[in-house]
Amino acid sequence: MARICIICEKESASGRKVADDLVISFLRWVKKTTNTAKNNELVVCPNCIEVHSKKRAAFERNIVIYIVFAGIIFVVVALLPLFSGKFSLGAFAIGIVMAAIIAILPILTSYSPKLAGESGGQIAKVDENATNAKESAGKGKKKVKAKR
Ligand SMILES: [Zn+2]
Repeated sequence: MARICIICEKESASGRKVADDLVISFLRWVKKTTNTAKNNELVVCPNCIEVHSKKRAAFERNIVIYIVFAGIIFVVVALLPLFSGKFSLGAFAIGIVMAAIIAILPILTSYSPKLAGESGGQIAKVDENATNAKESAGKGKKKVKAKR
């Protein structure tokens, strides 16, 4: 199994591994089913680390921008008609489709995978805090009921 740099497409024994995410798993699956799999290990070689981190940062920024934009489109196309009292299934469906297309645009235009072992830990920590907060809120409600 060759280790291939995803930026310069050269072999690199010392490159850093790319994390398997949904996009890469999907591409692997496509290649497997079309029998074009080369089974290369995807890495970023030391020479390309800087280029890659810039690309990755741009991609992450694009995702945020496009998801916000998709949300706005969804609200305008699908939800605004609701406020005027006219529910239109067609408008709702078009809103969802448009939002979905906009949301995946950055993956099609500027996709750049995460490196393996890069911290995604902060998001997990935030989730933990959120569940803790919910739990303590639930406990608070129970106490109020008990007093009654
Ligand atoms: Zn490279």
